[in-house]
Amino acid sequence: MAVPRNRHSNARKNTKRAHDAKKPKALSSCTNCGKMRLPHRMCSFCGFYSGRAVVTEEQE
Ligand SMILES: [Zn+2]
Repeated sequence: MAVPRNRHSNARKNTKRAHDAKKPKALSSCTNCGKMRLPHRMCSFCGFYSGRAVVTEEQE
């Protein structure tokens, strides 16, 4: 494994890590129930995707 020859300054370390922050999750609202859901995924609250029900609750 390569061994670093010189120590990097704190400023250089921190500049490098300036882009490492975790971004917040992208969310969009459901067109059927209005709740927040992940984009390009079925709504986990009402089972709708692209304006139609893709998953319906099982009837007992
Ligand atoms: Zn929904």
